[in-house]
Amino acid sequence: MGFFNKEAETMSRGEIEAVQLERLRQVVRRCYDNVPFYHKRLDEAGVDPDRIRALSDIQYIPYTTKEDIRDNYPCGLFAVPKSQVVRIHASSGTTGKPTVVGYTQNDLEVWSELVARICAAAGATADDVAQICFGYGLFTGALGLHYGLEKLGCMVVPTSSGNTERQLMLMKDLGTTAVIATPSYAMYMAESARELGYAKGDFQLRLGILGSEGCTPELRDKIEEAWGIFVTDNYGMSELMGPGVSGECELRCGLHFAEDHFLPEIVNPATLEAVPDGQPGELVITTLTKEAFPLLRYRTKDITRITKEPCACGRTHARMDKTTGRSDDMLKIRGVNVFPSQIESVIMNIKEVAGHYQLVLRRQGYTDTLEVNVELVDNTLLEKYSELEKLTQKVHDALKVTLGLDCPVTLVQSKSLERFAGKAKRIVDLRDKS
Ligand code: ZN
Repeated sequence: MGFFNKEAETMSRGEIEAVQLERLRQVVRRCYDNVPFYHKRLDEAGVDPDRIRALSDIQYIPYTTKEDIRDNYPCGLFAVPKSQVVRIHASSGTTGKPTVVGYTQNDLEVWSELVARICAAAGATADDVAQICFGYGLFTGALGLHYGLEKLGCMVVPTSSGNTERQLMLMKDLGTTAVIATPSYAMYMAESARELGYAKGDFQLRLGILGSEGCTPELRDKIEEAWGIFVTDNYGMSELMGPGVSGECELRCGLHFAEDHFLPEIVNPATLEAVPDGQPGELVITTLTKEAFPLLRYRTKDITRITKEPCACGRTHARMDKTTGRSDDMLKIRGVNVFPSQIESVIMNIKEVAGHYQLVLRRQGYTDTLEVNVELVDNTLLEKYSELEKLTQKVHDALKVTLGLDCPVTLVQSKSLERFAGKAKRIVDLRDKS
């Protein structure tokens, strides 16, 4: 099992907690002294930074939300002067202004190390040729993986997103062994390779370090089969740093946090009370070492579970489940809570459909309705009415069993749904238009 920093990644629980407590005290102090927003928040909550004596004292610290970041746009939450900031990233805001984050030189060092850790855990080594198919720019995915993989010693090929024909040509000619992309783009590249007449033997690909959007185990299986590679998932978000917050090891039994740099908690999203280890809830993270943009108890809106049981890989840091969906992404259809990932799992398990799908939301009166469009593998089925009918019913019934919901299903022609080079946009929301 490859480690990038074995000493840090295999500390005992007692050592991890000692490091976390020391760093928690430091980050709360730093926020209090340098960020007016936190100074006011902590005063209002009656939290004296010097009185953080145990990790459990974190419960007295108020949460930070995406709205807090937005309210302090662009740099109001920075804890260092701009002269010490050496990099800016931003996440695309769905409404208006983006979320701007900053890094000091030391923040970039830590970031590269944590990405190197997850890539080593995924099986990457200095011998790998790593092709980064994420769009370069303000988005943290591309540059985050770029510097982390360089730190690990890989030969990095920064192709960025799009231009699939050129991606595949370079992948073949340079002998790329690791692909870094969104799961949906990795799948699309496999389809394109087939169409362009490449054979599996043309490529030396062995690893997929995929991220930046959710990936069900079923989609992962399809990608592994299509490319003949081993795929791991990782987790991060620009507010927290970018990729590198947690990642799967080769055993794929949860995503290991970098607990010496992040303190994760799970809370009930409705009551905001702590949830015991092993129970699902919203992931809340405190950044322990970030200098430019520290966050105290940041509500990620991602739903997951945490276990602190040591892993058979030797890593002792807590593991989170793959996120089952963001609390923001949850759809409420006729009173039933539905996560798009549940629908994906169902569709990926039906072999006659290609794994590409689209969810259409509409509003009828006061309720939301969901229609599911699913792409066929084989277009000849479109001419066989009774078989088409049977398959439609099969998809419908499988969705009904999993979701507890009747939703209309339409089978559409192979390759008729849009493909994406970045995050897939599978939800078409017509609720304001109907
Ligand atoms: Zn492990």
